[in-house]
Amino acid sequence: MSHHTHSAFGVLFAVITIKVITSFDLYNNFLGEYLLIIYQTNKISLYSGAILGALIPDIDHINSHIANKFKPLSWFIKLLGIKHRGITHSLLGLILFSLLVKKLFYLDWISQGWYYSLILGYISHLIADMFNSTGLPILFPLKYRFKFGFNITTGSWQENLFFSIVIACLFILLFQKPIHSILL
Ligand SMILES: [Zn+2]
Repeated sequence: MSHHTHSAFGVLFAVITIKVITSFDLYNNFLGEYLLIIYQTNKISLYSGAILGALIPDIDHINSHIANKFKPLSWFIKLLGIKHRGITHSLLGLILFSLLVKKLFYLDWISQGWYYSLILGYISHLIADMFNSTGLPILFPLKYRFKFGFNITTGSWQENLFFSIVIACLFILLFQKPIHSILL
């Protein structure tokens, strides 16, 4: 999928997370600490972090939008022999990325809100890419690829349809009264 679809889906995933938290008062249960922080995070930071997190896994593709922004990093990843939709698109990649941003948080380079929203965005990317028939090696280094049974390829009419649905869902969720009120 292209970067605009990943970005939009990253934000939708973040909005749905907030929606679920606020609708079911999940911040009072066992996930309290994590969800309360996301809920209290500045929403602009949350969405910016979600967009960046949603783009980062494609750093393993030399021509991707994020790779063009961070060329030395993408060259380094290519030098390591990391292939597109390999480790960066797996649970192991998600864990390593989480540890990295946690470190950045402890170094005080990013806020706690950014820490969580980057991870939310990263998760959204993995979900979105499983709509492609190639699937993802979620349990990397195991080679089995997980997919949802669709074939949404970059630039296809299916991606345009998916993007339109995501934007429509975002529009509906953002302008629903409860979610709209927490965004103000
Ligand atoms: Zn990807």
